[in-house]
Amino acid sequence: MSKTFFIDTTRCTACRGCQIACKEWQGFAANKTTQLGWGSHQNPPDLNALNYKIVRFNEHKEKDRVIWNFTPDQCRHCTEPTCKPAADEVDKNAVIIDDATGAVIYTDATKKLSKETFENMRSYCPYDIPRRNETTGIINKCDMCNERVTAGLLPMCVKTCPTGTMNFGDSDKMLDLANQRLAIVKKTYPQAQLLGADSTRVIYLINDKPENYHKTIAANPDKSFKKIARARKPTLEGIIQDLMS
Ligand code: SF4
Ligand code: SF4
Ligand code: SF4
Repeated sequence: MSKTFFIDTTRCTACRGCQIACKEWQGFAANKTTQLGWGSHQNPPDLNALNYKIVRFNEHKEKDRVIWNFTPDQCRHCTEPTCKPAADEVDKNAVIIDDATGAVIYTDATKKLSKETFENMRSYCPYDIPRRNETTGIINKCDMCNERVTAGLLPMCVKTCPTGTMNFGDSDKMLDLANQRLAIVKKTYPQAQLLGADSTRVIYLINDKPENYHKTIAANPDKSFKKIARARKPTLEGIIQDLMS
Protein backbone atom coordinates (compact mmCIF):
# COMPACT_ATOMS: atom_id res chain seq x y z
CA MET A 1 0.00 0.00 0.00
CA SER A 2 1.49 3.34 -1.00
CA LYS A 3 2.37 5.73 1.82
CA THR A 4 1.80 9.44 2.22
CA PHE A 5 2.80 12.21 4.61
CA PHE A 6 0.17 14.65 5.82
CA ILE A 7 1.86 17.86 7.01
CA ASP A 8 -0.55 20.06 8.94
CA THR A 9 1.33 23.37 8.94
CA THR A 10 -1.37 24.95 11.12
CA ARG A 11 0.08 22.97 14.03
CA CYS A 12 3.76 23.65 13.40
CA THR A 13 5.63 25.64 16.07
CA ALA A 14 8.93 25.63 14.14
CA CYS A 15 10.67 23.76 16.96
CA ARG A 16 12.80 22.08 14.26
CA GLY A 17 12.77 18.72 16.04
CA CYS A 18 11.97 17.07 12.69
CA GLN A 19 14.90 18.77 10.97
CA ILE A 20 17.40 17.64 13.61
CA ALA A 21 15.93 14.13 13.90
CA CYS A 22 16.34 13.72 10.14
CA LYS A 23 20.01 14.75 10.33
CA GLU A 24 20.63 12.38 13.24
CA TRP A 25 19.01 9.42 11.49
CA GLN A 26 20.96 10.10 8.31
CA GLY A 27 24.20 10.59 10.28
CA PHE A 28 24.79 14.06 8.89
CA ALA A 29 27.18 16.53 10.50
CA ALA A 30 26.14 20.05 11.47
CA ASN A 31 26.42 22.80 8.87
CA LYS A 32 28.37 25.95 9.58
CA THR A 33 25.82 28.70 9.05
CA THR A 34 25.09 32.23 10.19
CA GLN A 35 21.83 34.04 10.72
CA LEU A 36 23.51 37.41 10.39
CA GLY A 37 22.64 39.48 7.36
CA TRP A 38 19.44 37.92 6.09
CA GLY A 39 16.94 38.75 8.82
CA SER A 40 15.43 35.34 9.54
CA HIS A 41 15.36 32.81 12.36
CA GLN A 42 15.46 30.06 9.72
CA ASN A 43 18.64 28.06 9.86
CA PRO A 44 20.22 26.88 7.61
CA PRO A 45 19.02 29.23 4.86
CA ASP A 46 18.18 26.45 2.39
CA LEU A 47 18.11 22.71 1.78
CA ASN A 48 21.59 21.28 1.24
CA ALA A 49 23.28 17.89 0.92
CA LEU A 50 23.31 17.55 4.74
CA ASN A 51 19.71 18.70 5.29
CA TYR A 52 16.99 16.61 3.65
CA LYS A 53 14.47 18.54 5.70
CA ILE A 54 14.29 22.21 6.53
CA VAL A 55 11.72 24.20 8.47
CA ARG A 56 11.19 27.38 6.48
CA PHE A 57 10.15 30.64 8.16
CA ASN A 58 8.11 33.18 6.22
CA GLU A 59 6.60 36.34 7.68
CA HIS A 60 4.33 39.07 6.42
CA LYS A 61 2.33 41.90 7.94
CA GLU A 62 -1.45 42.01 8.12
CA LYS A 63 -2.69 45.33 9.48
CA ASP A 64 -0.50 45.75 12.58
CA ARG A 65 0.19 42.06 13.10
CA VAL A 66 3.19 40.06 11.97
CA ILE A 67 2.12 36.61 10.74
CA TRP A 68 4.68 33.85 10.79
CA ASN A 69 4.12 30.85 8.54
CA PHE A 70 6.25 27.75 8.97
CA THR A 71 6.83 25.09 6.32
CA PRO A 72 8.56 21.78 7.06
CA ASP A 73 9.97 21.29 3.55
CA GLN A 74 11.14 18.02 1.99
CA CYS A 75 10.89 15.91 -1.18
CA ARG A 76 7.22 15.32 -2.13
CA HIS A 77 7.77 11.80 -3.54
CA CYS A 78 5.82 12.77 -6.65
CA THR A 79 3.64 10.12 -8.28
CA GLU A 80 5.31 11.13 -11.60
CA PRO A 81 8.74 12.40 -10.51
CA THR A 82 10.05 14.96 -13.00
CA CYS A 83 13.57 14.53 -11.58
CA LYS A 84 13.78 10.89 -12.78
CA PRO A 85 13.87 10.94 -16.63
CA ALA A 86 17.11 12.97 -16.79
CA ALA A 87 18.79 10.49 -14.42
CA ASP A 88 17.35 7.49 -16.30
CA GLU A 89 19.13 8.57 -19.46
CA VAL A 90 22.46 7.85 -17.73
CA ASP A 91 21.60 5.08 -15.26
CA LYS A 92 18.13 3.68 -14.56
CA ASN A 93 19.26 2.65 -11.06
CA ALA A 94 20.15 6.19 -9.96
CA VAL A 95 16.55 7.15 -9.14
CA ILE A 96 14.25 4.28 -8.25
CA ILE A 97 10.68 4.06 -7.01
CA ASP A 98 9.90 1.67 -4.20
CA ASP A 99 6.91 -0.41 -5.35
CA ALA A 100 5.57 -0.97 -1.85
CA THR A 101 5.58 2.60 -0.53
CA GLY A 102 5.90 4.76 -3.66
CA ALA A 103 9.02 6.43 -2.19
CA VAL A 104 11.28 8.06 -4.79
CA ILE A 105 14.81 7.05 -3.80
CA TYR A 106 18.16 8.36 -4.99
CA THR A 107 20.85 5.66 -4.85
CA ASP A 108 24.65 5.80 -4.77
CA ALA A 109 24.51 5.41 -8.57
CA THR A 110 23.72 9.14 -8.68
CA LYS A 111 27.52 9.49 -8.34
CA LYS A 112 27.73 8.55 -12.03
CA LEU A 113 25.60 11.51 -13.06
CA SER A 114 27.32 14.65 -14.30
CA LYS A 115 26.89 18.07 -12.78
CA GLU A 116 24.83 19.02 -15.82
CA THR A 117 22.46 16.08 -15.25
CA PHE A 118 22.13 17.12 -11.60
CA GLU A 119 21.34 20.67 -12.64
CA ASN A 120 18.65 19.37 -15.00
CA MET A 121 17.16 17.16 -12.27
CA ARG A 122 17.02 20.11 -9.91
CA SER A 123 15.59 22.50 -12.46
CA TYR A 124 12.88 20.00 -13.51
CA CYS A 125 11.75 19.41 -9.92
CA PRO A 126 8.58 21.47 -9.23
CA TYR A 127 9.73 21.97 -5.61
CA ASP A 128 13.50 22.59 -6.11
CA ILE A 129 14.53 19.63 -3.95
CA PRO A 130 17.59 17.71 -5.26
CA ARG A 131 21.00 18.69 -3.88
CA ARG A 132 24.50 17.38 -4.68
CA ASN A 133 27.23 16.58 -2.18
CA GLU A 134 30.21 18.20 -3.87
CA THR A 135 32.66 16.00 -1.89
CA THR A 136 31.15 12.61 -2.78
CA GLY A 137 29.32 13.51 -5.99
CA ILE A 138 26.15 11.87 -4.63
CA ILE A 139 22.85 13.60 -5.41
CA ASN A 140 20.47 13.32 -2.49
CA LYS A 141 17.20 14.23 -0.84
CA CYS A 142 14.62 12.77 1.58
CA ASP A 143 14.27 8.99 1.09
CA MET A 144 10.99 8.68 3.07
CA CYS A 145 13.10 6.90 5.71
CA ASN A 146 12.40 3.87 3.58
CA GLU A 147 14.48 1.50 5.71
CA ARG A 148 12.49 2.47 8.78
CA VAL A 149 9.14 2.31 6.96
CA THR A 150 9.80 -1.15 5.48
CA ALA A 151 10.66 -2.29 9.03
CA GLY A 152 7.27 -1.05 10.24
CA LEU A 153 8.57 2.15 11.86
CA LEU A 154 7.55 5.76 11.29
CA PRO A 155 9.84 8.16 9.41
CA MET A 156 12.12 9.85 11.92
CA CYS A 157 10.67 13.35 11.34
CA VAL A 158 7.15 12.05 12.00
CA LYS A 159 8.19 10.08 15.08
CA THR A 160 9.82 13.20 16.55
CA CYS A 161 7.18 15.85 15.85
CA PRO A 162 5.50 16.78 19.17
CA THR A 163 2.52 18.71 17.79
CA GLY A 164 0.78 16.45 15.29
CA THR A 165 2.06 18.47 12.32
CA MET A 166 3.86 15.48 10.79
CA ASN A 167 1.67 12.45 10.01
CA PHE A 168 2.42 9.37 7.91
CA GLY A 169 0.57 6.24 6.84
CA ASP A 170 -1.42 4.56 4.09
CA SER A 171 -2.23 7.08 1.36
CA ASP A 172 -6.03 6.74 1.60
CA LYS A 173 -5.98 7.20 5.39
CA MET A 174 -3.75 10.29 5.13
CA LEU A 175 -6.07 11.83 2.53
CA ASP A 176 -9.05 11.23 4.83
CA LEU A 177 -7.17 12.81 7.75
CA ALA A 178 -6.15 15.79 5.60
CA ASN A 179 -9.76 16.38 4.51
CA GLN A 180 -11.02 16.09 8.09
CA ARG A 181 -8.51 18.69 9.29
CA LEU A 182 -9.25 20.94 6.31
CA ALA A 183 -12.97 20.98 7.20
CA ILE A 184 -12.13 22.02 10.78
CA VAL A 185 -9.53 24.66 9.89
CA LYS A 186 -11.74 26.19 7.16
CA LYS A 187 -14.27 27.25 9.81
CA THR A 188 -11.73 29.78 11.13
CA TYR A 189 -9.64 30.31 7.98
CA PRO A 190 -11.91 30.14 4.89
CA GLN A 191 -8.92 30.26 2.54
CA ALA A 192 -7.37 27.10 4.02
CA GLN A 193 -6.47 24.49 1.41
CA LEU A 194 -4.63 21.26 0.74
CA LEU A 195 -1.59 21.22 -1.56
CA GLY A 196 -0.09 18.26 -3.39
CA ALA A 197 -2.96 15.84 -2.80
CA ASP A 198 -3.40 15.03 -6.50
CA SER A 199 0.20 14.47 -7.58
CA THR A 200 2.49 13.78 -4.63
CA ARG A 201 2.89 11.67 -1.51
CA VAL A 202 3.20 14.71 0.75
CA ILE A 203 -0.06 16.60 1.41
CA TYR A 204 0.21 20.02 3.05
CA LEU A 205 -2.58 21.83 4.85
CA ILE A 206 -2.12 25.62 4.85
CA ASN A 207 -4.45 28.23 6.32
CA ASP A 208 -3.06 31.27 4.47
CA LYS A 209 -2.48 32.11 0.80
CA PRO A 210 0.34 30.03 -0.77
CA GLU A 211 2.24 33.24 -1.60
CA ASN A 212 2.59 33.89 2.15
CA TYR A 213 4.77 30.76 2.50
CA HIS A 214 8.05 29.80 0.88
CA LYS A 215 7.77 29.96 -2.93
CA THR A 216 8.02 26.16 -3.29
CA ILE A 217 5.12 25.32 -0.96
CA ALA A 218 3.05 24.77 -4.13
CA ALA A 219 4.34 23.07 -7.28
CA ASN A 220 5.77 25.27 -10.01
CA PRO A 221 3.05 24.84 -12.69
CA ASP A 222 5.66 24.99 -15.48
CA LYS A 223 7.27 21.82 -14.13
CA SER A 224 4.48 19.28 -14.39
CA PHE A 225 5.57 15.84 -15.64
CA LYS A 226 3.86 16.39 -19.02
CA LYS A 227 5.34 19.86 -19.55
CA ILE A 228 8.86 18.72 -18.68
CA ALA A 229 8.52 15.68 -20.95
CA ARG A 230 7.41 17.96 -23.79
CA ALA A 231 10.25 20.41 -23.13
CA ARG A 232 12.78 17.56 -23.23
CA LYS A 233 11.37 16.09 -26.46
CA PRO A 234 9.51 18.88 -28.24
CA THR A 235 6.76 17.94 -30.71
CA LEU A 236 4.49 20.28 -32.66
CA GLU A 237 1.45 18.94 -30.77
CA GLY A 238 3.23 19.52 -27.41
CA ILE A 239 4.24 23.07 -28.31
CA ILE A 240 0.60 23.87 -29.24
CA GLN A 241 -0.64 22.33 -25.94
CA ASP A 242 1.87 24.43 -23.96
CA LEU A 243 0.84 27.60 -25.80
CA MET A 244 -2.82 26.88 -25.05
CA SER A 245 -2.33 25.96 -21.36
S1 SF4 B 1 9.77 16.56 -5.27
FE1 SF4 B 1 11.34 16.80 -6.82
S2 SF4 B 1 13.01 15.48 -6.10
FE2 SF4 B 1 11.14 14.82 -5.04
S3 SF4 B 1 10.27 13.19 -6.34
FE3 SF4 B 1 9.30 15.12 -6.94
S4 SF4 B 1 10.53 15.80 -8.67
FE4 SF4 B 1 11.78 14.30 -7.58
S1 SF4 C 1 11.25 10.99 5.95
FE1 SF4 C 1 13.27 10.61 6.84
S2 SF4 C 1 14.68 11.37 5.27
FE2 SF4 C 1 12.67 12.26 4.81
S3 SF4 C 1 12.62 14.24 5.85
FE3 SF4 C 1 11.71 12.73 7.24
S4 SF4 C 1 13.42 12.04 8.54
FE4 SF4 C 1 14.31 13.03 6.73
S1 SF4 D 1 8.88 18.82 14.72
FE1 SF4 D 1 6.76 19.26 14.14
S2 SF4 D 1 6.27 21.19 15.18
FE2 SF4 D 1 8.51 20.98 15.22
S3 SF4 D 1 9.19 22.08 13.37
FE3 SF4 D 1 8.95 19.94 12.78
S4 SF4 D 1 6.86 19.82 11.97
FE4 SF4 D 1 7.00 21.73 13.13
